[in-house]
Amino acid sequence: MKTIGLIGGMSWESTVTYYQVINEIVKDKLGGFHSGKIILYSVDFAPVEESQTTGRWDLTADILSEAAKSLERAGADFILICTNTMHKVAPEVQASVKVPILHIAEAVSMELKNNNITKVGLLGTKYTMQMDFYKDILKKHGIEVVIPAEEDIEIVNNVIYNELCLGEIKDSSRKAYLEIMDKLKTDGAQGIILGCTEIGLLVNQENTSIPLFDTTLIHARKAALRALE
Ligand code: GLU
Repeated sequence: MKTIGLIGGMSWESTVTYYQVINEIVKDKLGGFHSGKIILYSVDFAPVEESQTTGRWDLTADILSEAAKSLERAGADFILICTNTMHKVAPEVQASVKVPILHIAEAVSMELKNNNITKVGLLGTKYTMQMDFYKDILKKHGIEVVIPAEEDIEIVNNVIYNELCLGEIKDSSRKAYLEIMDKLKTDGAQGIILGCTEIGLLVNQENTSIPLFDTTLIHARKAALRALE
C-alpha cells in the first residue's frame, strides 16, 4: 500500500472527513484491521486565510510548498491538497516536490465524465467560483461550468468562511444553498459540484434530487484507491 500525504487544516473541519473516508475505503477493500497509511501535515489556517484576503497567493504557495516538502521527506508517495481553493497554487506546490499531487479538479472532472455530465453548477469560495484556475480544468475536459449570480456568490462564500470553516452548521444556510442549487439547475446544470471541502458538512445527497459531486468524498476516494493500486 502506498503512503498518502495530506496537506490539511484548510479547514481542519473538512480534513477530518478525508481521514475518515480514506480509512473507511481501505478497510472496505482490504478488510480486517487494515487502515490507510497516511501522513498529515495540518497547517495553521489563519495565515493562509489572511494571505488569500490580501491577495498574497505567493505567501500561501510558500506555506503549502513547505508542507509538501515535509510530507515528501517523511515518505509520502503522493500528496493531496485538502481544499479546492488552495489549488490556485497547486502548480507552485507541485514544482517544489518530485512526488505527484493528486489534483482535486482532475479527480472531479473524471467523476463528472463517468456520470456523463457535460454542464455543471459550481459552488465554492468566491476564489474557486470566480477565478479561472479551477474552471479551466473542467473546461479542458469539455465540461461547461455555471456559477451563481453575484449576490449568491457572496452568500455561498460567507457561509463557508463565517460558518463552515468555524464548525457552525445552520439550517438557514442549508436552505439558502438548496435554493441557489435550484437556480443553477434552472440555468441548465445537470449536477452540482460541492467545490469546497466543507460544503458536505452542510448539504448532502439526501437534501436534494439534483446530483451532487462532493469534492471531499471524490478526492479522498481517489486517494484511497490510488494507494491500493
Ligand atoms: N476548504 C475550502 C475549499 O475547499 C475553503 C477554505 C480555503 O480557503 O482553503 O475551497
